[in-house]
Amino acid sequence: MSAPTPPVWELSSEELAAKAAAARKAGLTWRRSSVTQRADALRKVWAELVARRAEAIAVIREETGKPAGEAELVEFGSASLLVRYFTANAERVLGERSAWTPWFFANKRASVRRLPRGVIGIIAPWNLPFLIPFGDAFCAMLAGNAVLLKPSEWTTRTALWLESAVASTGLLPEGLLTVIPGRAAAGEAVIDASDLVLFTGSTATGRSVAARGAAQLKPVILELGGKPPRIVGADAPRERASAGAVWGALSNNGQLCVGVERVFVEAPAYDAFVEKVRARVAALRLPPAADADVGRFVFPPQFERVQAQLEDARRKGALVIGGEVIDRAGLLMAPALVLNAAMDMAVMTEETFGPVIPVMKVDRAEEAVAFANSGAHGLAASVWTSDAERAARLAELLEVGMIGVNEPGTHYALGSLPFGGVKSSGLWRRHGDEGLLAFTQAQSLLEHEWPLDMPDPWWFPRDPRIVAILRRLLGLP
Ligand code: NDP
Repeated sequence: MSAPTPPVWELSSEELAAKAAAARKAGLTWRRSSVTQRADALRKVWAELVARRAEAIAVIREETGKPAGEAELVEFGSASLLVRYFTANAERVLGERSAWTPWFFANKRASVRRLPRGVIGIIAPWNLPFLIPFGDAFCAMLAGNAVLLKPSEWTTRTALWLESAVASTGLLPEGLLTVIPGRAAAGEAVIDASDLVLFTGSTATGRSVAARGAAQLKPVILELGGKPPRIVGADAPRERASAGAVWGALSNNGQLCVGVERVFVEAPAYDAFVEKVRARVAALRLPPAADADVGRFVFPPQFERVQAQLEDARRKGALVIGGEVIDRAGLLMAPALVLNAAMDMAVMTEETFGPVIPVMKVDRAEEAVAFANSGAHGLAASVWTSDAERAARLAELLEVGMIGVNEPGTHYALGSLPFGGVKSSGLWRRHGDEGLLAFTQAQSLLEHEWPLDMPDPWWFPRDPRIVAILRRLLGLP
């Protein structure tokens, strides 16, 4: 497998301005369509993308080195579920709804409309180069907006495939989904040209995106990094807990924000859990096998960061099984199991984003909750136990935006679930009703219906008898 190169180029400021203007113009046409019309058009666009998915999968594989099955099931399969959910629910969420009025407003009608914001800036990372940009752009367009998409410099060609495949359907106004390739400056240009920004990436970059948005009073949704813990109770279902740990930690070569980044196991279950995980990792097929289960790193600095974390763990007394460099130039590393992990090791506290499963023994799950909550991140966590009440209790204690109970991080594919973190892992949510509504602004409507040509009694001049009645009506005795 060859080493990747980022084929990125920067647009001139004139090209940027022209693209931003074209997107805005497309948005003005698009927002005139009804929610149902948009959902119908976007459903058809999706059908065309699905029919051409082999092309996209080839590009994704070249840019990221993912196994074909993973590219298809995770990137396209999850997107398919999102399309299904959001098109079916768009009218319910985005449609006009009537609002409460007091009884003495019986001659008036209150309602709330959801208006598109205009242009949504989507700044995306490299780990899910199709799913994240597509899913966010799809929701933004469903809500009536145009999209400026700034992909990672490492996955520009996947984004360009998406842009061109969408355009070639001829079903959407030209320029409605526009890719802005480039590096940080392109991201900044997208913030400047958008009405709302949805940023997915590291916490450090997220801070600067938020600061730039704040200076322009622009809303910014931040989906940032995490250090998801998995807490395995002594009573956990053993096969599922071990298989789920391996799948959660090694899917996408560990480059998943909600992947398993560290495992805390209650002492009585530790040995059996480790044994099962070890056997499952040993059975994985690695590249260059054509049917490999795991892929390579996407982003070269990530390779060195993970190797450095493993070295730090070894130095501090952990037993590292696996983790060998298979092909440094090709960014290939064997998955690593880090046993006897401890909280002074970077692998237990800093985001790893690689094929590593650190396992730490704890006396009680509550101890693991305290460790998990002590860090800056709060994206996701999972609890593994056969006691539902205990799971609910532990879930309540964990300071995270998403919880799995005997379930790894599959939340993203379910559009019904708001997706996002707390603390340094993010601000606001994508997905769910609130994620779709975030791409709109509320317009509150209050209409006086009858009698049309009569002032309301509480208008001027203020009559003391009316004031007395009003006091009673308003609950001001
Ligand atoms: P980065 O923060 O490095 O980059 C994210 C995006 O921001 C890229 O497109 C990048 O462009 C762009 N960018 C860089 N600098 C700026 C800037 N100053 N202004 C605007 N845009 C800028 O993250 P990665 O791409 O390395 O992604 C990995 C991170 O993403 C991990 O921390 C992971 O946890 C997180 N993540 C979070 C998810 C979530 O939903 N919470 C989901 C997936 C990943 P360029 O690539 O050209 O530098």
